Amino acid sequence: MGVSTGIRAARPAAACPIRPGEPCTLCQVDVTGPQDCGLVWLVMGDDELREGVQRTRRATLGTRRRRAAENS
Ligand code: SF4
Repeated sequence: MGVSTGIRAARPAAACPIRPGEPCTLCQVDVTGPQDCGLVWLVMGDDELREGVQRTRRATLGTRRRRAAENS
């Protein structure tokens, strides 16, 4: 059995695969993250919905890059 130091490493926030740019907020019941989220499973398993997520992701990245360029 290991010795506990009482210090915990910070865990990186998981990103929600279906809300590009947003962290997982555990908005679904009984999930521990995207890895066991039924909504993610449903959306990513449907070609049309997955393409919609990818379109949103590209649009979000484009908007962020334009804003960064405007502010530099
Ligand atoms: S629980 Fe699922 S849908 Fe909700 S934020 Fe997390 S990954 Fe996204």
